[in-house]
Parts: sequence; C-alpha cells; structure tokens
Amino acid sequence: MREIEEQAAEAYTERFGENPELIASAPGRINLIGEHTDYNGGFVLPCAVSRRVAVAAGHGSGELYSTNFDEGRRMDDGKDSSWADYPRGVAWAFGEAGREVGDFRAAYAGDVPLGSGLSSSAAIEAATVLALDALFRLDMDRRELAVLCQRAENEFVGVQSGIMDQYASLLCEEGSALLVDCRSLEAQNVPLDLEKVNLTLLVCDTRVERGLADTGYNDRRAACERAARTLGVKELRDARKEDLGRLSGEELKRARHIVTENARVLEATDALRAGDFPDLGRLMYASHASMRDDFEISTRELDAFVELAEAAGAPGARLTGAGFGGCAIALARTGETEALARDVTRAFAERGFEEPVFYKFGPSAGAEVAR
Ligand code: ADP
Ligand code: MG
Repeated sequence: MREIEEQAAEAYTERFGENPELIASAPGRINLIGEHTDYNGGFVLPCAVSRRVAVAAGHGSGELYSTNFDEGRRMDDGKDSSWADYPRGVAWAFGEAGREVGDFRAAYAGDVPLGSGLSSSAAIEAATVLALDALFRLDMDRRELAVLCQRAENEFVGVQSGIMDQYASLLCEEGSALLVDCRSLEAQNVPLDLEKVNLTLLVCDTRVERGLADTGYNDRRAACERAARTLGVKELRDARKEDLGRLSGEELKRARHIVTENARVLEATDALRAGDFPDLGRLMYASHASMRDDFEISTRELDAFVELAEAAGAPGARLTGAGFGGCAIALARTGETEALARDVTRAFAERGFEEPVFYKFGPSAGAEVAR
C-alpha cells in the first residue's frame, strides 16, 4: 500500500474503532496539452500525477473524516459547502443514475495540494466513487463512474468543469497519458514513459489567485460559441484552418487557438506514439504562444516561467489549466529540474512576483482499490 493509503486506513481505525473494509485512492492530474478545447467538443491529453487522495471505507452510518481538515462530518447533514460535499455529491449522483448506495463511513487522507490546479477535487471524487462501487458491488464501468463524478461536481457541489479531470483520475495508467475526445467521450492511453528518456514534468504553481478566472472563462466560452455560429458549425471542433479566413477580430483569435490547439493535441499524441519528445516539447511551446497571443489567458508570471524554461533548454513548457493565473508545466531533463526551479524562484523574486511552488513527477497510475 502507498503511504497515503496507510494514513487513510489508520485514520479510519482510530476514528471508528474498526478496520476499514477497503481502501481506494485516486490521483490528481495535469493537462499536457489541449486547453479550452473541452467545451468546444475537442481533444485533451492529461496524465495522472503521483499525488493522490486515499479513502478507507466500510459499511456504517454515515460518518466522514478527513485528515487534511482534521474534521468529522456527516453524510446526512446535507450540502454545507464543506469538503464533505464531494462524498455526498458522489453518493447523490449514484442515486441519480439509479444505482442507490447504502450507508457507509469513510476516512480520507490526501497529498494532492488543495486548490492548486492539480484537481484534488477530481481525486476525492474518483477515490470515493471507486470505493463505493466496490463496497456495494455495483461493478460499473470506469467511464460511467467518471461521468457520475462530473455530475457530482457540476450539479451537487456546483462547480462547472469538463470531463477531463475525472477521466484522467479514473482512466490513466502509469507511464501513460490519456487522449480524451470530449465529444464522444472516447479515451485512449498513450505511452508516456518519461523515466526511460530521463525527463520529468515540473509543475510551477505561480500562486496567482485566478481572480479573473470566472469572467475570463465565461467570456472565452461565449466568444467560441459566437465564432462557431459565424462559421455555421456545431462546435469549433468542426472548424478547419481554412475556415478561419471567414472570421475577424476577437472571434478569429479565439477560434484560431481552438482549431490549432486541437490539431496540436493530435500531433502530440502521434509524437508520443513515435517517442518523439522534442516534437512534443515544440508543440507545448506553440500551445503556450497560442494561449498567450490568441486566447489571451496567460499572465506575466506564466509567461516568465515558460521563457525561463526555454532559456534553460527545457524541451517544452506551457501554461496548464484554465489560465489567468494558476500553473504552468515544463518537460525538463530529470537532472535539471532543481536548477530550473531555483532560477525561476530567483527571477520571480527579482520581478516582485509571488514565490512559486514546484511539484515534479512522472505519469502515474489512475484510481485503484488498494485492498
Ligand atoms: P483543485 O481541484 O484544483 O484542487 P478545488 O477547489 O476544485 O481545487 O477542490 C479542492 C477541494 O476538494 C478542497 O477544498 C476540499 O473540499 C476537497 N478535497 C480535496 N482533497 C481532499 C481531502 N484529502 N480531504 C477532504 N477534502 C478534500
Ligand atoms: Mg477542482
């Protein structure tokens, strides 16, 4: 068992006085490439990170506990805008899908940083859904479980998000990325054995509050819908590069990002299948430029990180997530990540930016029942 799974198990035993019946865990994720393509019916290419939320569970009368919050809550208390809304939402979504789950109790422990853009919310949902699926012997398909988690987050917790996070957490495999077609919801594992080629993913959390995030996101979404209407297509997924000449101004810039980004995701998938990491890196830099210049969702901190990574010779780097703050990633040589992180920290201090936080990892396993 992983250490974080042991922690959840110990918390369960301490809290409830019995051993858990089962332990499950699920990872956070980062997106390698494919930004804002999800709601345009396009493609994304995330991979699971090596940080997870673990849950120890058993039949019981609805007690919940999280070591991260050092706090007990109850399932039947109803939505209260706390962390317990995630397990409540997942149980609710089972019911909505016509697969009622019985009473249970659960203890959580996680090392996915909360609210940093690595999707600890999908991790707690995915761990919960897998634990309940096993505990109540529902034997549902992982894709269905992911859709159920998304529904919990959208409709119960009340946070709008695409399917990527839950798909990544439930369907990723170690040493792989996951190509997701956000329209058909088909997904394929794509080999991404970074260890073999001595590369590491370095995440830089710029710690910039994603202040403009909501308005910026809604605004980009609306512009994409307008561009699709102008072009007479259902979604920008259906637009081709040749169509862009019929657009101008804001619609052109936003649509150009989406059309080229979708193409880059597919090219990146080909690059991975061919083991062509320089090409993957080139596509990551191109993706960043497109988000900076056309989609206009970058910040000076995110741009600075990408520039510093490029100057240091990293094969690839880009903003990851919705933008307007948050995280960037670099594909960096394993021996060079520390130096890059140090350089970035120094440069950020000189420019008066917030001190960034770094995480490094390789593509990790998706959700699992550990015992
Ligand atoms: P992100 O998904 O980027 O980490 P969110 O705000 O979407 O940020 O989700 C973070 C929330 O998920 C936390 O505030 C908490 O409610 C819940 N959560 C994540 N991990 C845990 C955990 N280990 N225990 C309890 N709640 C958790
Ligand atoms: Mg989240």
